[in-house]
Amino acid sequence: MTITGECFCGEVKCRVEGSLSDARSCHCSRCRKVFSSQASAYALVDPKEFEWLSGEDLLTSYVDEQGFGFQFCSKCGSTLCGLFNGTVHGVTLGCINGDPKVKIARHIFVGSKASWEIIPEGVLQYQEGVPENE
Ligand SMILES: [Zn+2]
Ligand SMILES: [Zn+2]
Repeated sequence: MTITGECFCGEVKCRVEGSLSDARSCHCSRCRKVFSSQASAYALVDPKEFEWLSGEDLLTSYVDEQGFGFQFCSKCGSTLCGLFNGTVHGVTLGCINGDPKVKIARHIFVGSKASWEIIPEGVLQYQEGVPENE
């Protein structure tokens, strides 16, 4: 399938020719700040299936010491994708247009969620990350 995404101002656009996987929401304090939200909403992509359609020159990157990073629109501030070692690793679900045919399957680091957030009932929750054997 073809999945498209764009930032708030619309200058940066991307496309995935394939499917998203492992949609998750992380409630840790770092993700809250990266996503300016109560949690992340993020899904993995195959880097070979991902391309920027426009506005790539407007992208600004922030990469941490472990090689994980994010790219965001320098004009409007939307966070569009995650990076690992310089390669696109996943997309922020908030910037995806329409229905990408994935649902957030698990909520991680719920143990460090914001005091003001109420987690919906019935969702799969982990106090920290997903255990190794899952
Ligand atoms: Zn923008
Ligand atoms: Zn997190």
